[in-house]
Amino acid sequence: MYDLIIVGAGPAGLSAAVYGRRAGLDLLVIEEKPMGGGQVLNTYEVDNYLGMPGMNGFDMGTKFREHAERAGARFENAAVAGIVDGQGAKIVKLADGTEREAKAVIIATGAEHRELGVPGEAAYRGRGVSYCAVCDGAFFRKKDVAVIGGGDVAVEDAVYLSALCRKVWLIHRRDSLRAARALQDRLAACGNVEILWNSTVQEIAGGDTVERLRLADAAGQFREELAVDGVFVAVGMKPNTEAFRETVPCDSAGYVIAGEDCATQTAGIFAAGDVRTKQVRQIITAVSDGACAVASVQRYLV
Ligand code: NAP
Repeated sequence: MYDLIIVGAGPAGLSAAVYGRRAGLDLLVIEEKPMGGGQVLNTYEVDNYLGMPGMNGFDMGTKFREHAERAGARFENAAVAGIVDGQGAKIVKLADGTEREAKAVIIATGAEHRELGVPGEAAYRGRGVSYCAVCDGAFFRKKDVAVIGGGDVAVEDAVYLSALCRKVWLIHRRDSLRAARALQDRLAACGNVEILWNSTVQEIAGGDTVERLRLADAAGQFREELAVDGVFVAVGMKPNTEAFRETVPCDSAGYVIAGEDCATQTAGIFAAGDVRTKQVRQIITAVSDGACAVASVQRYLV
């Protein structure tokens, strides 16, 4: 039996692995994807991680992984199908039918940005298509961009980008925003943001990078082409918690309910990084969670 199993090898899981090994814990990191590393691996450039300006996301994810390996973390490549809260042990069930046991588990499976699912979105990811205005907005300084969505994140992104970009189009599929009133008021005060109501994106197109969007009306009828240098997709997030929802309570959006100590409502199971309920989902806050979760694991184990 391991002291600790960490599910997920993004920044939160890898940080937990480093802290866990330094605390002398016998631990296993289980990751689903062969490379592991989480969302950071798909980020063209990370410019807001303290001390590493302009860092390539792939290089950063690789460094995180190497650090955890150097600390002595053991890795296993497998999909986790569920966790059973057994007597004195947490049983991590793998998709291949086998099981791994530990005294404590940290869930660090992250969240994924929901995609629009339109032609060009995948091809231009990192070349004009972004899912994070705070991460990538600076690359579009004095350029024209579109934000897709009508929720808090879309409106926050549009406000944030309005300070950097020449023009921001907010493209929303309905005729009213879902975002909080206070955010809408801030948006209204931005002189360079224009809302395109009842509009959907049919296609993202361009050359080497994004150059234009094909827009349709709410009924899907082609309306116009819009010239933009970048597109920020903000149509919600999807936490990777399907396998855990029977074991740890989650909120209505599917995030594992846990505070800054990363303790879930199930003793001995912790949640770190984007997968838990929190305000700021950034690499630096995920890394911080890894440390906090291990401190809580140590308290639980004694
Ligand atoms: P969200 O509230 O679920 O909003 C998603 C938006 O995307 C909605 O306007 C939705 O349109 C639109 N949308 C969804 N699928 C779409 C599609 N396929 N094509 C076009 N548009 C689509 O998600 P979020 O903005 O990411 O926020 C997530 C959660 O975090 C929310 O609970 C939010 O309140 C919270 N949050 C709060 C704050 C804050 O309080 N300051 C800041 C950020 C996030 P419809 O409106 O038509 O459904």
